Amino acid sequence: MKLNYLLATVATAAISFASASYAETVGIAMPTKSSARWISDGNSMVEQFAAAGFETDLQYAEDDIPNQLAQIENMITKGVDALVIAAIDGTTLSNALENAAAAGIPVIAYDRLIRDSGNVDYYATFDNFKVGVQQASSLVAGLEERFGEGPYNVELFGGSPDDNNAYFFYNGAMSVLQPLIDAGTVNIVSGQMGMDTVGTLRWDGAVAQSRMDNLLSAHYTDAQVHGVLSPYDGLSIGILSSLKGVGYGSGDLKMPIVTGQDAEVPSVKSMLAGEQYSTVFKDTRALAGVTVGMVEALLKGGEPEINDTTTYDNGVKVVPSYLLEPVSVDLSNWEEILIGSGYYTADQIQ
Ligand code: BGC
Repeated sequence: MKLNYLLATVATAAISFASASYAETVGIAMPTKSSARWISDGNSMVEQFAAAGFETDLQYAEDDIPNQLAQIENMITKGVDALVIAAIDGTTLSNALENAAAAGIPVIAYDRLIRDSGNVDYYATFDNFKVGVQQASSLVAGLEERFGEGPYNVELFGGSPDDNNAYFFYNGAMSVLQPLIDAGTVNIVSGQMGMDTVGTLRWDGAVAQSRMDNLLSAHYTDAQVHGVLSPYDGLSIGILSSLKGVGYGSGDLKMPIVTGQDAEVPSVKSMLAGEQYSTVFKDTRALAGVTVGMVEALLKGGEPEINDTTTYDNGVKVVPSYLLEPVSVDLSNWEEILIGSGYYTADQIQ
């Protein structure tokens, strides 16, 4: 009896020792280091997963689709306990995710929806439609402030057509702009509209810059452009280079209102220099927090917290989601939002 008790105690201790020392590993697949926001996302997740007792395997794929696929397949083979994926192309992961499901590995789509797969368990993101609404609202406010009553000459840029978010940003923006276009207050001088025409593959700033060059030389030799809807800071910087190249921002040619997203340092500096007009801040620390919470619930037994069960249909299922709030940032509030929240130090912006 005594011996049995002793053995049982030893066994229990061994089990609890094993479970205490065995940290589960989360595979994190990020798109690229070429944009600072994804570096912040990766770092925040590594930090917050570690604080919650998880190990992490963080990989960046430099916007190369086969590279990301190989990284994810590798994580599955190595037997990670959960996958967090910010896809480069949201439509190319179906086969890999079938293998993940077969191995019982839960999958969280991070910021960007993974499409065409039933094997996406949850989606952590921001209210992406609202991002577009904020961009267009800021564009309109800037146009009124800098150019008076209008009508205004405006050009539109969209994000990468293989990123589901790009459509939400564009549609959100058009929900504000279309009535103004219909009323004749906003003129799309080039006539170029619709994601199939204004999309920017891989969110590439150089592509946006050369499209802006072409728009200016084809449509603005006589007219002046007053505003450019840009969905991402990296594109905004390219667009602004193009504008500056033909003299906007000096002499009589006022700088057009150019929007953005992600509050990346070069764009915050550009705002302070009177170039980019606004950006949208999405706190990557909070997105990492939501994601860590979801993984914790999935692996430790619990229900991940969600606040949206209708918006994100990936073509196979509506993926249960948690949407965070984006914040529109311009010269009036950048300090409070970006420095006040500790996202940046004042030194980083100088
Ligand atoms: C993200 C944006 C980002 C863009 C380019 C989108 O999926 O939601 O925050 O600006 O990708 O990296």
